[in-house]
Parts: sequence; C-alpha cells; structure tokens
Amino acid sequence: MKILILGAGGREHTFAHMISQSERCSKLFVAPGNAGTSKIAENVDLKVTDFEAIKNFVLEKGIEMLVVGPEDPLVEGIADFFTQNEQLKNVKLIGPSKRGALLEGSKERAKEFMLMHKIPTAAYESFTEESLEAGKSFLEMLDAPYVLKADGLAAGKGVLILEDLEEAKAELERMLAGKKFGAASAKVVIEEFLDGIELSVFVLTDGKNYKILPTAKDYKRIGEGDTGLNTGGMGAISPVPFADKEFMQKIEERIVKPTVDGLNEEDISYKGFIFIGLIKVNNDPYVIEYNVRMGDPETEVVLPRIKSDLVEVLEKTFDSKLDEVNLEIDDRAATTVMMVSGGYPEAYEKGKEISGLDEVEDSLLFHAGTKLENGKVVTSGGRVIAITSLDMDYKKALKKSYQNAEKLHFDKMYFRKDLGFDLS
Ligand code: ATP
Repeated sequence: MKILILGAGGREHTFAHMISQSERCSKLFVAPGNAGTSKIAENVDLKVTDFEAIKNFVLEKGIEMLVVGPEDPLVEGIADFFTQNEQLKNVKLIGPSKRGALLEGSKERAKEFMLMHKIPTAAYESFTEESLEAGKSFLEMLDAPYVLKADGLAAGKGVLILEDLEEAKAELERMLAGKKFGAASAKVVIEEFLDGIELSVFVLTDGKNYKILPTAKDYKRIGEGDTGLNTGGMGAISPVPFADKEFMQKIEERIVKPTVDGLNEEDISYKGFIFIGLIKVNNDPYVIEYNVRMGDPETEVVLPRIKSDLVEVLEKTFDSKLDEVNLEIDDRAATTVMMVSGGYPEAYEKGKEISGLDEVEDSLLFHAGTKLENGKVVTSGGRVIAITSLDMDYKKALKKSYQNAEKLHFDKMYFRKDLGFDLS
C-alpha cells in the first residue's frame, strides 16, 4: 500500500518510523517532512492545507492511505474534501470529518459537546464582544485563578491563566474587543480553574469502536520545575505512573465511552485519533481539552509502545473494523526528551549543523525542526530532535535518553534535565 503522511514534526517522523516497518507499506511519502523522514520515506514539497495539490499528488501516485498529522487540515475539512470526491473517497484517510474536528477547532463547541453528553469538565460560560460586560461580571463571581480561552485555534497560545481579577478583566477585553488572538478570540470561554495533575489519554476510533492507546504526560514549560514560557512540548513519558487500572476505568466509563457514543449520537463521522487532555482532581478525571489528532511530543512515546502492525490497525480504523484489532502494547515505559534551539520558544537561530547523530545508541531519534543542507543535517525550527528510549521503567528509559542527549550537539542546544520530577 502506498501511504502519504501530512506534517513535518517529530510526530510525523514517529508515524513514518512505525509505518515504514510494516510489510503492508510498499512506498511511503511525507509532506513536507524533515531530514529524519527523508531517510525512511520520500519527502514531498506540499502544503498540508493545499487540498488541490494533495489531491493531485494522491491521484498521480496512487496513494491508498493518508495519515493527517496536524490539526489545521482537519479543522479545514480535508476528510470531507476526500469523502465528497468520487476519485478520493476510497483513500483510507485517517482523521475526523470537519464536524468532528470542531471538537478542537472551537473550545465552545467542545464544552457544549461535553455538557450534552455528561462528560466531566470545568464549569464554563462563553462570551463575545457584545457580552463583554457580562463576561466581566462572570469573572467577579469566580475565584482566582481565572481561566480565559480563545474559542478558535491559536497555536497553543490561546489560553490565559491569571491570578488577578482586574488583569483577567483587562485580558478578556483585549481578547474580545482588541482581537488579541484575531478571529480565534472573537469568542472566549471562561472556565472554572481545576487544581490537579494533568495527563493525556489517546483513543483511536472508527466512529463506533475504539481502542485506548497508552497514556502520556508531557512537559510543556521551557524551564525546569515547569517554569517559564509554554512550548510545543519539551518531552513526554508513557505510561503515566499514577494512571492505575481503577483510574483508567473511570476515564473509560466517564469520558472515552460517552465521547465516542456522543459522536455517534450526533452522526459525526470520525475515523482517527482523539487526544483527550485530562486533569486528575481528587482521584476523578476531568476533560481540559480535546484534540483531534495525536500530540507532539506524546506521539514519540505512545506509538513506539504499540507492537501491533500500525498500518493494519489504521486500515481497520478506516474500514470500521477496529473491533477486529487486538492491540498489543509494549509493557516497557517510553520517554522522550526534546532538544531545542537556544532562545526557543522566543527568537532563536536556525541553520546550525547537528553532530553526533550516528553516535546515539539504544534510543530512537525523531527529527522535528531539521533539514538537509549540502548533505548535512541542520536545525530549521525551535524543537529540533526528540530522543525516545524504552526500558522497564521511566527512570531507566530517561537515563538512556539523557545519555544520548549528551552525544548530540548543535550551537546553543538546550533540553530539560528534570523530566519526571513531579512523578516520584
Ligand atoms: P494546547 O497547547 O495543549 O493545545 P490549548 O491552547 O488547546 O493548549 P488547553 O489545553 O485548553 O489549551 O489549555 C492549556 C493549558 O492550560 C492546559 O494544559 C492546562 O495546563 C491549563 N488549563 C486549561 N484549562 C484549565 C482549567 N480549567 N483549570 C486549570 N488549568 C487549566
């Protein structure tokens, strides 16, 4: 089977790594890909939201499966574009329809969905510029900290958590009237602050059946001890040690099942991944957010723990036969540590040569912001390379990732050395 993966990060390199190992894959393309994917697949210079160009490529090459990595093409309706086209509708596209993708594309929609299907989440209200004053009054009724969320996609930056009431009101005004996040903040969800520890659960669904994939915990802040600015993610650990059997049962009964049933009841076509961001409060799970694709860097620890043939699992997903899959999961823990460019998530330099790539042993390297330049691998983004390791427990796995991190080098390379600090 000829397969195309859309995306360019560590997530897509991990998908490419898993898919290229399957005998069912005869030829693999990644668009646009990075230096890492170019070693195991053919990179194609396509924009992930240029549906016409993707269509032409798919038809020209006879692509039979399309794995969509990032959210933008999903929210813009790539799955509908394929199902509505006679020539494309049989391509096994992994990703939800536009209506399904709205669970990530609109925070208000996600909250309404949870309310409708009795899925535990923080209490909320949403506001527009017209209801700005009502929004300020609502804030006065809440206790600090105040959680303000831009309704639309804001590249992971649209959530503000503020301690001070006056500041929260001013930010609300900046978001609604000042269009702080452009059209994404034309609506703002204000919600109750939940105090607990976060984790993520990944689900693969064909719309009716589902499989729960390994859990993961990511580390978002740039600084050690979870301090400083938010990033795309500085590393991840799977499984999450505190997500024991009993807690996972609560997650399945209260969240996963009602989510898939809710999609069904609303007749929403969904063949793909659901990434559920959760918070554990007093031993009970609450949903913080839905994403309609895999996470990055969580993919780098979740997929390598799947022992079943990923292409077969994805085929069954598209064919609505996930119930036939016996998903085999590696018992070992996986960790990933992200090497980033100095200065990230603010300004940073690119084009730095990366050395030591061939010296890494007993870990997997997943490229994110890298490219080939005159035969050399150089940095091309803030997050550069993820080092994934597997071992009996997360501490041993982390040790391997850190040992290999010392072998890599590029000018101003930085990584967090404290992953897992909050777990023991
Ligand atoms: P991401 O970058 O994860 O895609 P996002 O912009 O989609 O983020 P959320 O995941 O909804 O936004 O929120 C970002 C972070 O803010 C969460 O990971 C969590 O740490 C915090 N947060 C969000 N909602 C709440 C809440 N109700 N109570 C406490 N913390 C919250």
